[in-house]
Amino acid sequence: MNAVVTAERAEEIISYNPATGAEVGRVPLATDDDVAAAVTNGREAFAKWKTTSFTERSRLVKQAREVILSQVDEIAHLISQESGKPFGEAIAMEIAPVLDLMQYFARNTEKLLRPAKIGIGLYALMGRSSKIIYHPLGVVGIIPAWNYPFSIPLGEAVMALMAGNTVVIKPSELTPLVGLKIGEIFEKAGFPENSVQIITGDGSTGAALVDAAPDKIMFTGSVATGKKIAAAAAKNLTSVVLELGGKDPMIVFADANLELAAGAAVWGAFCNSGQSCSSVERLYVEESVADELTRKIVEKTKQLKQGTGNREDVSIGAMSSERQIQIVEDHVAQFLADGAKIETGGRRSADTPVRIGVASTPKNALAGGTGDADKSVRAPLFYEPTVITGATNDMRAMQEETFGPTLPIATFTTEEEAIRLANDSEFGLTASIWTRDRAKGQRVAQQIEAGSVCINEVLYTHGIGQTPWGGFKNSGRGRTHGREGLMELVQPQHIHTNKLSLLPDAWWMPYSPTAVATFRKMTTTFASGSLVKTSTLLPRLLKRVKELLKK
Ligand code: NAD
Repeated sequence: MNAVVTAERAEEIISYNPATGAEVGRVPLATDDDVAAAVTNGREAFAKWKTTSFTERSRLVKQAREVILSQVDEIAHLISQESGKPFGEAIAMEIAPVLDLMQYFARNTEKLLRPAKIGIGLYALMGRSSKIIYHPLGVVGIIPAWNYPFSIPLGEAVMALMAGNTVVIKPSELTPLVGLKIGEIFEKAGFPENSVQIITGDGSTGAALVDAAPDKIMFTGSVATGKKIAAAAAKNLTSVVLELGGKDPMIVFADANLELAAGAAVWGAFCNSGQSCSSVERLYVEESVADELTRKIVEKTKQLKQGTGNREDVSIGAMSSERQIQIVEDHVAQFLADGAKIETGGRRSADTPVRIGVASTPKNALAGGTGDADKSVRAPLFYEPTVITGATNDMRAMQEETFGPTLPIATFTTEEEAIRLANDSEFGLTASIWTRDRAKGQRVAQQIEAGSVCINEVLYTHGIGQTPWGGFKNSGRGRTHGREGLMELVQPQHIHTNKLSLLPDAWWMPYSPTAVATFRKMTTTFASGSLVKTSTLLPRLLKRVKELLKK
């Protein structure tokens, strides 16, 4: 089996349903030795896996798709139970997009990684040629967050495997059972032993995985943890992709379709209870339409039902953890203290189930609790979708990532001001621009400091596996998804051939005054890229080569 799950562990992690308080299951807290063994096993499995054909890898990924398709409801329920998100949202935002990503990379990885000839200019006239081929890296360590516990690690694993790597996934401590489900899917699909391993644990397990020196770390999580991982990975020169936080702006110009923009703002801010890295966390609307847009947003927000994720009429589920809900409370209080106004929401939901009967365990806190192991009742983890007006960028809550169901609205009067306000952030993951003027949309998009910018769309492009995903500024380093994401999972090798290997190169030793004169002339002829200028170098070149042949 691929998962490292050893029986009789002293320490375990209890996974709770944040909407009901019920225990979903228990998993072992892997030791540092477990983690090191997983990387060693992964490296052994890599020796064989890297030699498999793209056809074989593709067949297995397609088989894994079939396993998922045969269990869609079961998987969606598990995601919903561990994360608190609505069942339907688990299907729409996790299962469907990752199935699409799987079919894309199953069909296209071979083409994307096909060896390619490189144009080498005038060197080609000297009978040289260059090509690039792509080697897998080895063992890829995947350390995801809890907010998209299925689609993010599974998508990254599929890309890594298609590129010829093996993977070790350390799921979030809040969603370990979804992590084990991923392992089960690969195993059922017939992937070879240790090509995919799941090690359950917390932050210390993640740190052990980095210390075990896999060949790449794909990390998704907070900026603070990303910095720790980058520092730890540097000890072994392990390269890392960091997918970090966001404070994503949505800009609505007066000429936008306000009805659509309002719907997009509500979904963009409140899906997954606002716990998406690309959630709309700041809305900037042109002043002349601010009242109308706000009214529409508030109306739509008030229609939303909140509750346990298993109900199909529920749009807003629970938040993942007490820690997360406290950040939302802090930010809402901060907005109020700074003079902003709550239009709707602004509190924990009063009528949600209270969690009871929590087992007393030193690891309680890991599952999103208060950290007090003796408490048997916890606060419900629901927070109402909250619309705030009168927000300005100098408010702390407009700068820090909230990661909750809040939608603060600010106004602007000119295009330049909208761009300046949107860029006034340490983050730069995604942004969205709403206007009927396509030229304006393109013009503004290119000035926004963010890895993905949507025009008349919002949030969802992580779901397009063909397109690169990643942030500017503190939102991350490197990319997942798309060709750029695949390139993170391979090492390019340049193969250079001299097809006319008859004469020494003019730049070889020994050097001489003739050599130096030739080199000097090269700077203004050959190095200019001009064939005409380079032709004037030929007499000197011949003299120099003759000189070398005599020696
Ligand atoms: P987190 O940083 O607390 O934890 C993320 C993962 O890192 C978990 O699996 C955790 O166990 C592990 N971890 C913790 N400490 C570690 C250490 N020292 N070494 C190695 N691993 C360690 O983040 P979180 O609360 O799980 O996730 C929320 C954050 O994730 C938000 O900031 C959100 O914006 C971000 N996020 C970003 C993207 C993206 O694509 N950019 C996607 C989803 C979430």
